[in-house]
Amino acid sequence: MEGQPHENLEAVVTRATALGASDLLLFHYLGGGMTVRVKIDGVWRQASEYGEADAKRMLNRMKTAAGIATGGLLTPVDKDWKPTIAGHEQVIRVAAHPAANGEKIALRLQWDGGTLPLDQLGMNPANLYEYEQLLAEPNGLIAHIGPVGSGKTVLQYAGLGHIAGTEKSVSTIEDPPERILPGVAHMAINIDAGATFPVWMKSMLRGSDDVLLVGEMRDSETALSVLQLAKAGTLILSTIHANDNLTAIERLVEFTGHSRSSVVEATRGLVSQRLLRRLHKDCNGNGCEGCGQIGYAGRIPVHEILTVNAQFERAVTDGANTYQLREIATEYRAAHNLPTLLQDAQRLVDEGITDEKETRRVLGRGRVE
Ligand SMILES: [Zn+2]
Repeated sequence: MEGQPHENLEAVVTRATALGASDLLLFHYLGGGMTVRVKIDGVWRQASEYGEADAKRMLNRMKTAAGIATGGLLTPVDKDWKPTIAGHEQVIRVAAHPAANGEKIALRLQWDGGTLPLDQLGMNPANLYEYEQLLAEPNGLIAHIGPVGSGKTVLQYAGLGHIAGTEKSVSTIEDPPERILPGVAHMAINIDAGATFPVWMKSMLRGSDDVLLVGEMRDSETALSVLQLAKAGTLILSTIHANDNLTAIERLVEFTGHSRSSVVEATRGLVSQRLLRRLHKDCNGNGCEGCGQIGYAGRIPVHEILTVNAQFERAVTDGANTYQLREIATEYRAAHNLPTLLQDAQRLVDEGITDEKETRRVLGRGRVE
């Protein structure tokens, strides 16, 4: 599709936002010209192409506003661009990467739809009940697990929103805060100002927070502080990039150098999430104008919860291997009617909400229980 000549990047962002896009990917070719792709419901689509003159003008304007050098980049750059879209300032994260054949620029459109209540995420009732039980714990870690783009952040914000209405003191430490919730103190990492993660955590240890959301555990320092606080009596919600719940425990062991039993002692539960595209209702997945001939519109989450009960904790202390731990987790799920990711997805296929093809795309063949 040919992009409209002389338009600016704000117009492109406005159109993408109207389509429900979460990201834009611009590729500016060394030989001239630029392609724009949009990510909708987790899948990229080709959107438009621009000639060199338009590409240069659009990119230079955006880069100048975001504080990125307009000449050729030598190293990756991450900045915020704050354009005015429909009368409102919007914060867009820009990641610009030099490539051998041009320049790749990813724009992360911030979702400003507020925070959905926990019971409106589309969670299966048994999982919802189990997750609420975890959120009612007085202390310990609740870890949200999944790859990039699996909706972990939306889930943990919904979880935090569920707690925030209660008589508990709730704070978050993030880089940067992604949503603002009423009654919650959102603290931002600001390395230039010296407000680094360790500085925040140190003050948290002295503080009086009952519940703390830590954006992501992506390094040793963060993970160590989280375990320390979880053991000292704070309920902590955080995320880890991992493929499944048991792998996430191993990641925490690697990050912290603690023993498995020390990690598990601090952990109340692990919640894996994936997002599946919904079949478009109007066309039953056949493709129509409303869904851009894709057949899907919107997404719904599926979950697999691992609750750390006494049996699981004892098994870890006794040196159980991954296979034995998986057995215990499976027994617990069966006793509480909780599904695996694949079983949760199968329920949605049976209900006609999504299809086998989408399940396979997101979950692969899965593990046979
Ligand atoms: Zn359709």
